[in-house]
Amino acid sequence: MTPSTLDPQPLHDWLALQGSADRSRLLPMLIEAQRLYGYLSEQVLAAVGQTLRVPLAEVHGVVRFYTLLYDRPTGRTIVRVCTSPRCAQAGGEQVLRDVCLALGVQPGEPTSDWAFEVEEVACLCLCDHAPAALLGDVPVGHLQAVKPEFWLAQPQEIGLGHIGGSPRRLTARCHEGAPAGLSEYVASGGFSGLERALRSLSPAGVIEVIEASGLEGRGGAAFPTGQKWSLAASGEARRRYVVCNGDESEPGTFKDRVLLEGDPWAVLEGMAIAGYAIGAERGYLYIRGEYPRAQRILQKAIREAQQAGYLGENILGSDFHFEIELRSGAGAYICGEETALLESIEGKRGLPRLKPPYPVTDGLFGQPTAINNVETLCTATWILSQGVEAFRSVGTPDSPGTKLFCLSGDVALPGTYEVAFGTPLRELVATAGGVAGELQAVLLGGAAGAFAGPEVLELPLSYEGFRQAGLPLGSGVLMVINAERDLRQTCWHLSRFFAHESCGKCFPCQLGTQRQMEIIRRGIEGTLTAGDLEALDDVAYTMTQTSICGLGVTASSAIESARKRWPELFRPGAA
Ligand code: SF4
Repeated sequence: MTPSTLDPQPLHDWLALQGSADRSRLLPMLIEAQRLYGYLSEQVLAAVGQTLRVPLAEVHGVVRFYTLLYDRPTGRTIVRVCTSPRCAQAGGEQVLRDVCLALGVQPGEPTSDWAFEVEEVACLCLCDHAPAALLGDVPVGHLQAVKPEFWLAQPQEIGLGHIGGSPRRLTARCHEGAPAGLSEYVASGGFSGLERALRSLSPAGVIEVIEASGLEGRGGAAFPTGQKWSLAASGEARRRYVVCNGDESEPGTFKDRVLLEGDPWAVLEGMAIAGYAIGAERGYLYIRGEYPRAQRILQKAIREAQQAGYLGENILGSDFHFEIELRSGAGAYICGEETALLESIEGKRGLPRLKPPYPVTDGLFGQPTAINNVETLCTATWILSQGVEAFRSVGTPDSPGTKLFCLSGDVALPGTYEVAFGTPLRELVATAGGVAGELQAVLLGGAAGAFAGPEVLELPLSYEGFRQAGLPLGSGVLMVINAERDLRQTCWHLSRFFAHESCGKCFPCQLGTQRQMEIIRRGIEGTLTAGDLEALDDVAYTMTQTSICGLGVTASSAIESARKRWPELFRPGAA
């Protein structure tokens, strides 16, 4: 549709269904406008800005921030080929070249009939299906051996992938195919945790249960969940909010996608339990834009839960009211950072806020907010349903319960594995069929994590075990790299990822990630100088000490760990 034929009525109709027309509707409205009109022309942006009373310059600023928003015409189906570390290892760059060749275009160019456009993208978090791509809304994987002509014409949508480990608590209901319906969920004990909370516990009592369980946040920071809820519940406030961080974007991570798509009800139940505990009546479930299937599943689940009285007013006959609104990300890794995510919900560019203050006191719309990861909330659901004693019956005293690990790379059976904390990494790798080839390294914790050598196999998978070894457990990434791979290439893909994803708010990270990438590139090309290595140290130190948020603080950690463990990797002049 050309700008001169723009009919704003569909946009107004959509907005009328939303219940409010405040600034926080900006991102959802831009996503809807793009769906309705094909792309965000100047006229569309003006209409959006006028409707929401947001200055046009700010609307532009938001559009330019998110990679899934387009202010130019694009091909009707965008083929997003992942070339992040794991997909690159598995041949993602060749897939990108092949699909461009097959369609006769370069990345970023539409085909002459406007049917397709190819894009190279950062991590799609389909690492267990690498090399992977999103064909429009359809995730496809294992593309190294398939001709693009074939998968472009007949895409085979991938499912949850392999799920293993023991005991299977959070993943008990996760399997290929459609997730359990609401009645199946309830029949298998679903919503019993919320029911127990509402019928027999006070909000403070729920927080006590979570504190007694020892649950720590599963998003990477491992902050005690009970303490977070307690802080968010305390003090005077006009409103309080629960936010579920489903913006899973860390290279090597995919477990939250499995939970969202495999057991959506447990996520909603966990949010409602958190809402009751902190005194919130509204929750936001923020799911990354690259997870369209998870969004569809959760949107449907929210509707059905509302109809069945598990969300809405007087839930299960109590005086507790709680609504959940799904929000879509639009292609920005930084929105996984909690304050950036809040900015995004508020309709702004996803730029991290300075901390303190923390979201528990000054969160969404300036109000106390408990923001939790998907796995954390599912674990809270399990704890309320099964009890603290059952939860602590596996794991270690300091890391009770189970944890989901994302095992990818050179193993026989990549996938999501749920195991009790304390399980030796060697045992987990054996469960996954063992290393394919001779083990060189494991990337732990994702792009923001660290490399370790084969000795890491002896470590127990627990927070304290990894802390003692000076390694990050993070959100549970275990990317196995065999001895045939050039680790410098993995470092290069990591450095490129951060250079691409730095939001640019602070100089140390904005410039540091670029310099780091350039130096690593020279290391591969054999033009590295002694000065480069000094500069790399300097950049790493400066980013770590002075960046505003975790992205800059950890952007050099994996590369530094590789240099420390394998000093011969980057030497002046060595190719
Ligand atoms: Fe943005 Fe990087 Fe600064 Fe974080 S550290 S605010 S990602 S520029």
